[in-house]
Amino acid sequence: METADRVAFPAWALRLTLVGFVLAWIFGPIELRQAVPIWIPFAIALGLELSFVWSAFRAPAPRAASLDRRPQPDDRERYGYDDEQSELLLVHDKDRDLWIPYRGESGEELDELIEDARAWADEDEAAAEPAIAQRRSLGRPVRRFVTGVAIIAALGLTAWFVESRTGWNSVDGNARIAAVERFSDESSRIAGKPVDIRCDESRDFVGFVQHADGVAIVGGDRAYLTPEICHSLYRLAFEERVDGNTTGRAIAVLAHEAWHLRGERDEGRTECYAVQSGVALGQRLGLSEDRARQLMRQQLTENALRTGATVEYRVPPDCRDGGSLDLRPDDSRFP
Ligand SMILES: [Zn+2]
Repeated sequence: METADRVAFPAWALRLTLVGFVLAWIFGPIELRQAVPIWIPFAIALGLELSFVWSAFRAPAPRAASLDRRPQPDDRERYGYDDEQSELLLVHDKDRDLWIPYRGESGEELDELIEDARAWADEDEAAAEPAIAQRRSLGRPVRRFVTGVAIIAALGLTAWFVESRTGWNSVDGNARIAAVERFSDESSRIAGKPVDIRCDESRDFVGFVQHADGVAIVGGDRAYLTPEICHSLYRLAFEERVDGNTTGRAIAVLAHEAWHLRGERDEGRTECYAVQSGVALGQRLGLSEDRARQLMRQQLTENALRTGATVEYRVPPDCRDGGSLDLRPDDSRFP
C-alpha cells in the first residue's frame, strides 16, 4: 500500500509536468521549440514511468499469509504451547485447519480449546488481510503504467500533429525547393563559390544528439541545416516574418556554415565573420539595415555568454570594430 502511494504522487507530478511542457512547446515562444527537441521530455517521461512500475514490482514482497497453518514459533510462545508436554491436534473447521495443543483433554475442555484456536485463527486472518490486499494491488502499478503510457502517447500524437502543421515539414514541397535554392545562392555569395545548402529533414547530420544547428565540411561545397533553422529562414525570406532572436540565430547559422565552406576552420573566427556577413544577408532576406544590425549585435552579445562545451565558439578578442577580424575596418559600425 505504502509503496503504491509513494509512487502515485511522483507519477502524477511527472504527467502534469509533461502536459505543461507540451503546452508550452506548442503555444510558447518559438525559442523553446528550437532549443529542445520534443522527443527528449517524452523519453524522460517514459523512462520514469518504467522505473515506477519496476520499483513497484521490486518492492519487498508482502509477508505471505502463511500456508503452513501450524502454529509458528512465535505463536507457540504467545499462546503458551509447550512442545515437550503437548501434542498438536489437527481439527478441520469449515474451510480451514486448526491446530490445537492437546494434553489429553476431552469433552467441554476440548471444545473450549477449539473455541480458543478459532479465535486466534480469526485474529491471524484479519492481520493477514492487508498483506493479501497488497499482493492483489500489484495490478495497480501495471494499470498506472498503462495510464502513463497512454497519456504519453496522446501527448506525443498532439505534438507530432502540431509539428507537422507548423514546422518546416508543413511547408509545401515546391516552396521548400525554392527556399533551399535561395539559401544556397546566399551562402554561395559568402563562400565565394557555388555551394549547396540542404535542410536535414531526417536529422542524419544535425540536430538531435550533436545539438548543432548546422554542419559543413571546411572548404567543402555542401552544408546541412536543421529543419528549425531552415523554417526560420523560410519565414523571413518568403513570409516576411521575423521571430526576433530566433531569426537572428538562423541568419548567423547560415552565414557561419558559408564561412566554413569558404575555408575558415576556427569556430570563433567563423562566428565573428558570420555575424558581420549576417547584416547584409539579413537585409537581402528582407530585414531593414537597422534590424539586421540589431539582430547580429544580439548574436554577438549571446556569444560572449558562451561557456563550457560551446566555449570554442566564442569570438576572439580581435572580433571588434577596427580589430584584425573586422571585415570592413573603414566602417565604424560593428558588426
Ligand atoms: Zn562551425
